[in-house]
Amino acid sequence: MKKITIAIDGYSSTGKSTVAKQLAEYLGYIYVDTGAMYRAITFYVLQNKFLSTTKFDKKALLDALPTIVIAFKKENVNSKPEIFLNGTNVEVEIRTMYVSDFVSSVAAVPEVRKKLVAIQHQMGVEKGIVMDGRDIGTVVFPNAELKIFMNANAEVRANRRYEELLAKGDDVTYAAILKNVQDRDLMDSTREDSPLVKAKDAIEIDNSEINQEDQFHIILQLAKDRIAGRV
Ligand code: C5P
Repeated sequence: MKKITIAIDGYSSTGKSTVAKQLAEYLGYIYVDTGAMYRAITFYVLQNKFLSTTKFDKKALLDALPTIVIAFKKENVNSKPEIFLNGTNVEVEIRTMYVSDFVSSVAAVPEVRKKLVAIQHQMGVEKGIVMDGRDIGTVVFPNAELKIFMNANAEVRANRRYEELLAKGDDVTYAAILKNVQDRDLMDSTREDSPLVKAKDAIEIDNSEINQEDQFHIILQLAKDRIAGRV
């Protein structure tokens, strides 16, 4: 059967990765969470104290960048792929609010994007991939057969994220999450290199009032139409 490339972009906490994972599982495709890659570099930068609320030592980051190894690996055959930074599994560490607060500054650095986009291209050469992020349909795979652009009301998104983090036992407030979501959207969509914008040929889905199950079926149908060559 024909394999396609599915690009899922959109604003923070719109549920891109949930639906991307569901699609990849259903279709037997590879799933790649590119946000995790930017988060892993940010975690490295914070660990090495190159970045804080008062300074960003970009030169130190650029010097270290060639030595930073980012890879997705499975701990065992049945587990899902998790992100490794220089050989260490950092899947849990990258999901904290601390990393979320700094990731958009690191993601705005062109050299960081160049490095990660090269890895992303490589992962998609054989198609059969669902990749989610901010620039997948515009920069990484401009020829993707299916491009989705996801949005939802900021309060709805913040609330979903709040409940997710609370369930994990994180000590967070709704107000801090709402601010983080809004700040990241602004930085991501106004940066110079590969800003978050809807690709001209992307299908926009506002899921403020669509449940996960319905959304999955809508996007799955769009994918099936393209795989079968109906579109
Ligand atoms: O998807 P997630 O919210 O985990 O992404 C974290 C951050 O990584 C985004 O806010 C954005 O700054 C950056 N990012 C990006 N390009 C991508 C994926 C994520 O700039 N393709």
